[in-house]
Amino acid sequence: MGMSFPGGLARNAGGRATEKFREAEQEAADSAEARLLRHHPRVRSVPQIWHQDSAGNWNAEGATAQWEVYCEQCGDSDGPADRQFPPARELRGPYKTRHQARHAAARHERNT
Ligand SMILES: [Zn+2]
Repeated sequence: MGMSFPGGLARNAGGRATEKFREAEQEAADSAEARLLRHHPRVRSVPQIWHQDSAGNWNAEGATAQWEVYCEQCGDSDGPADRQFPPARELRGPYKTRHQARHAAARHERNT
């Protein structure tokens, strides 16, 4: 009656498991937060023409021989590079080769 030995053991084991689970949960939350804070620059060819629709969305048309790096986390709102604020505009480039653009994107990702 009252205290049950096996039940107590089970509770202890459960407590340790819960603690471990909480640690793992916290680690997962931390890395998810880090992932959200990181920048995810993308490399694409510089479009020939930009069109803005009535809703304000930009649509790219054609491709030039140049490349650019687009980073949403830097506040890039898409559309022409000269419409961006300095940090996003600088990152855009343009770059002469895809290789150069990829290097710039990788460097940017490492530094954010
Ligand atoms: Zn960025």
